[in-house]
Amino acid sequence: MNYLEIHKKAFVLDSHCDTPLELSRGAKIDKKRKEGHFDLTRMKEGGVDAVFFAIYTSGSLSPDQATTRALELIAFTYDALEENYNKVSLARSAQEALFNKESGLKSIFLGMENGAPIQNNLSLLRLFNDLGITYMTLCHSKDNQICDSCAPKTETWGGLSPFGKEVIKEMNKLDMLIDVSHISDNSFYDVLKYSSKPVVATHSCCRALANHPRNLTDQMIKDLASNGGVVQINFYPPFLDSDYATKFWPLCDIFDEQLDLYRKFPRKHKESFIEARDNLFSIPRPSYKRVVDHIDHVVNLVGIEHVGLGSDFDGIEIGPEGLESIDKFPIITKELVERGYKKEDIELILGGNFLKLL
Ligand SMILES: [Zn+2]
Repeated sequence: MNYLEIHKKAFVLDSHCDTPLELSRGAKIDKKRKEGHFDLTRMKEGGVDAVFFAIYTSGSLSPDQATTRALELIAFTYDALEENYNKVSLARSAQEALFNKESGLKSIFLGMENGAPIQNNLSLLRLFNDLGITYMTLCHSKDNQICDSCAPKTETWGGLSPFGKEVIKEMNKLDMLIDVSHISDNSFYDVLKYSSKPVVATHSCCRALANHPRNLTDQMIKDLASNGGVVQINFYPPFLDSDYATKFWPLCDIFDEQLDLYRKFPRKHKESFIEARDNLFSIPRPSYKRVVDHIDHVVNLVGIEHVGLGSDFDGIEIGPEGLESIDKFPIITKELVERGYKKEDIELILGGNFLKLL
């Protein structure tokens, strides 16, 4: 069986995509877009069956702003799904996603990235769950009311907050998946301590291969796996490769600044934005093979049942060489076949492992 046949037969799932942000800027996903990493045409070309759309809110919003923003992003997603009802449907469980595939439809799941929108209110958590949120990333790049983030060194709670412990209990009760991407190491260990169910990292890599606090240490991967969880490898080049990261971060700061100005004043800042973008994109990027190196690392540490894919597309500036957008997914399968993975193992990595937890 060649790699394309294996890819086609597998249920292929990407557990993290920031496309709702693009929808909020007016993007349409029915036709191939020049910008961004995702649309339904490229999803089909890439043989991807299900994608999690991240309902992301920035840590700098007030609680009310965060709740409003999350509702808005869910509404934009519902609109996009309705406009494309003959191609794609919302999924809330593995069964629904498998049924969609059998009916010739793609699936969009919803995940919430940053628990700020639930404020200090478990009723809001339940409401968002009712609206289709299947997993929740507890925080983003700032400490919040639930736990500490890995980004700052503030350690507001030293792990989970008292409310955070209630959130874990309630998410277990609701069968919502707990996402440990973005949280601090202490928060991670608190989550494992208080959760009675397996937890996931929907878009994180291995710290042993690229030393960044967003990535998981070998010990964390072992503990997450022994609790039945799955690590979904992120495609973001600086999380994949330390050498690349050293060159990337300073130029990325300039790029982000220029992008912000360009969005506000396109005519005035077009040239400086293009220059910043060209500088950033001219750094030689790690290849798609590096994603498979991270998969190999998890497999060697804890076995085949604890790894998958969480691209972070539309939330990252650029993907690895050869894996620039969602249509390129089959190249991962090709590489897995070349490295000697069996068909059954590839099916687990491409989506089977994550699907089992849904
Ligand atoms: Zn993220």
